[in-house]
Amino acid sequence: MFPASFEYHRAASVKEALAMLQQFGEEGKILAGGHSLIPLMKLRLAQPGHLVDIGGIRELASIREEGGRVVIGGLVTHRAVEASAVVQAKLAMLSECASLIGDVQVRNRGTIGGSLAHADPAADYPAAVLALEAEIKIEATAGSRAVKADEFFLDLMTTAVMPGELLTEVAFAPVPAGTGFSYLKHRQPASGFAMVGVAALVKLDKQGNCDRVRVGITGLGPKAFRAKAVEGALQGKAPAQATGAAAAHAAEGIDALSDLHASAEFRAELARVYTRRALETAAARAQA
Ligand SMILES: Cc1cc2nc3c(=O)[nH]c(=O)nc-3n(C[C@H](O)[C@H](O)[C@H](O)COP(=O)(O)OP(=O)(O)OC[C@H]3O[C@@H](n4cnc5c(N)ncnc54)[C@H](O)[C@@H]3O)c2cc1C
Repeated sequence: MFPASFEYHRAASVKEALAMLQQFGEEGKILAGGHSLIPLMKLRLAQPGHLVDIGGIRELASIREEGGRVVIGGLVTHRAVEASAVVQAKLAMLSECASLIGDVQVRNRGTIGGSLAHADPAADYPAAVLALEAEIKIEATAGSRAVKADEFFLDLMTTAVMPGELLTEVAFAPVPAGTGFSYLKHRQPASGFAMVGVAALVKLDKQGNCDRVRVGITGLGPKAFRAKAVEGALQGKAPAQATGAAAAHAAEGIDALSDLHASAEFRAELARVYTRRALETAAARAQA
């Protein structure tokens, strides 16, 4: 299928992109890697009158360290996240997560900003940015604001990014030394999207009990979420004894999605099983 007709604009800077978005209003849409937007346009589920291509804005395409945080530009591709030495050293779970997105072509084109702004319920990054408690910078002509990952995902494909705004950066505070990590997913066999994906971080105290646990889950419900009931059930406990019982809370209070790939019951069971496995891997990788 061909998309409906549209006008193409290439922005050279964030300022120019924001000015274009303001000018086009509801008719304007940002184009980053195009790997989610173009399929929607071909199906005519999206019919923007104006596409603002941000692919040439170099200031959005870097990974840098700033005040102890790792800051990833909105235009950084999944492949660049996966391969970055800084990300591998400081945010190994994010690198692991990026390496499991789609295939190499998708990873070479798709961007972290596009994935988070699109907020597909089966996307991988949302689980990781929730577990890592990232802060997402959103810019508009009126100014910028930082939104905590926990407050960023609002509903199915709905985020804190409003029309006319641009997701410019994702900032990650340092992960405490000795923290074990894991991102695991049950892949949709054709696309590789997460039928369920679980990001887990576990830090142990000197006695080998859980000192800090963070769990983000994607694919289960309409939006990715922090599994705080799982985290609370494991806090202060020995992973070997408590992980199974804690993981049993993974789908608690979530209205699980059901489609031709997986029923709600199957997704909930996947969430429990993958949460247990991700926690076991993270605990095994943690150094007390
Ligand atoms: C075959 C295939 C397999 C895939 N498999 C996976 C998978 O396994 N896991 C996974 O997570 N994803 C998967 N994806 C999705 C892929 O990761 C997309 O690239 C990503 O979700 C969107 O990023 P993009 O840069 O392509 O965004 P685009 O498609 O360009 O944009 C997506 C949406 O976000 C908006 N947008 C883009 N950038 C910004 C920004 N900086 N600020 C504000 N709004 C913005 C656009 O206006 C649009 O609405 C797959 C895609 C394909 C085609």
